[in-house]
Amino acid sequence: MIPKVIKKIIENKVNEKVDETLEEIAETEKKLEEDEKMIDEIEKHKEEPKELEVVEIKSKYDSESKVLLVSCVDPRFSDDFRKFTRDKFGNFVHLSIPGGIGALVLPDLMPKPFKVLKQQIKFIVNGMDIEKIILISHDDCKWYKHNKGYFRGLQPEQQKLDITSAKKIIEEEYDIQVECIHAGLKNGKVVFVS
Ligand SMILES: [Zn+2]
Repeated sequence: MIPKVIKKIIENKVNEKVDETLEEIAETEKKLEEDEKMIDEIEKHKEEPKELEVVEIKSKYDSESKVLLVSCVDPRFSDDFRKFTRDKFGNFVHLSIPGGIGALVLPDLMPKPFKVLKQQIKFIVNGMDIEKIILISHDDCKWYKHNKGYFRGLQPEQQKLDITSAKKIIEEEYDIQVECIHAGLKNGKVVFVS
């Protein structure tokens, strides 16, 4: 025979558990109701997407794009970076990031951008079977100007040093060819130099 007092304790515990479970069920039902309301709201405002432009896919990366171009985002140069790389190396993967490879040589001063850039390169090199990397720096880079406190040298000499250092860093990590190119501005034209 279970003593009365023990029986009472067990009863109380069971009741507590039942109450807790009922509360949880009510909570879940409330959430489901809210979700349903949200879905209804989304459905109400759903519009058919408008086609802005339809273009044929001209490139694919599977067997053709063994080249990765890492460059700055500067719109004065972007088209020329892409044209230069396509003309010289064919199809390629473009990693466009402010300052290009700049953050890769500043692991201590810019730990977060360094880490992000390193991870992005790793993902592309391993995930897309890259065999060659092209690093392009350019004259009058706004990222370098903005971050000049981090660098000892002046533009564009500092950038040329940095792409050479970045080349070493990448070559130490991957069995891959790295080419450094600088895009200079001369009489309103972009001049690519090795
Ligand atoms: Zn730039």
